[in-house]
Amino acid sequence: HAKKHGRNMFQLYTTDTEGLAKTDLRMEALLHKALENNEFVLFYQPQYHAESGKIHGIEALIRWNSPELGMVPPSAFIPLAEETGLIVAIGEWVIEEACRQNKAWQDQGFPATPIAVNMSLRQFYQADLLETIKGILKKTGLGPRCLMLEITETIAMQEDIAADILQQIKELGVRIAMDDFGTGYSSLKYLQTFSIDHIKIDKAFTDKLHTKEGRAIIATIISLGHHLDMTVIAEGVETPKQVQELKDLGCDVFQGYYFSRPLAPADLVDQLFG
Ligand code: C2E
Ligand code: MG
Ligand code: MG
Ligand code: MG
Repeated sequence: HAKKHGRNMFQLYTTDTEGLAKTDLRMEALLHKALENNEFVLFYQPQYHAESGKIHGIEALIRWNSPELGMVPPSAFIPLAEETGLIVAIGEWVIEEACRQNKAWQDQGFPATPIAVNMSLRQFYQADLLETIKGILKKTGLGPRCLMLEITETIAMQEDIAADILQQIKELGVRIAMDDFGTGYSSLKYLQTFSIDHIKIDKAFTDKLHTKEGRAIIATIISLGHHLDMTVIAEGVETPKQVQELKDLGCDVFQGYYFSRPLAPADLVDQLFG
């Protein structure tokens, strides 16, 4: 089954330029219907404390389970969703589904664990984002401290919108993480201005941990985060060697294939509580 989907995907992404435009249009048409057809799913990847090995949080990562295209990764449709504005509705679904699932786990007796949701810039241009989040927390019954929003430097850069709304979201008790730190238009100003709880070291840096320069950059991000009272999370941790080196550098939390891939809800429960 997966193979068949794999082949469809391959065809989709290896067309020529002319074909690519057509592919985009076709994809856009399919994407428009995906939400009402219930084709999105969330996978969940655990984050572990370096010292205790205890769970720190769970990141929700979207996939598009398309009957026509197969299982589509976010890199293949989030940019299109952002361009078309569909990301606003999709993003709202993600927040609600992640909150609903997290509350359901708590109701089943599993320990309360924060869930992290990735945010797109377009969502912050919605005047009612705060109300949307409030409404979802109320509707699902999830405590605000069990929700984390992952923002990017691109979002933090839009100071006019970001400063106020992030402050208001923080006042609800929701936590904020700076995702992919160091890959965008990094400015230390943003870290200082917004009350950010967690800083995530991008996989691109974790990959370079074995080099002198890579190690220096990671050490600096960790030191920066700690001086600002933030929890530092390393992304893309794949090997025991990286785990040891990150521990030596004082990194707080690990996320990556070495510990677990993103999992379907039932598999996540097995992994964490099974
Ligand atoms: P991200 O938020 O930085 O998420 C981390 C990505 O790295 C995920 O890819 C995850 O599966 C992958 N990853 C985690 N550990 C490892 C590892 O050890 N090795 C490798 N090679 N990869 C690892 P994924 O799920 O394909 O998501 C890609 C990006 O798509 C995310 O990057 C995020 O920017 C975006 N995304 C995912 N879900 C959503 C969503 O609901 N809304 C929005 N706006 N963007 C999303
Ligand atoms: Mg993320
Ligand atoms: Mg990231
Ligand atoms: Mg990343």
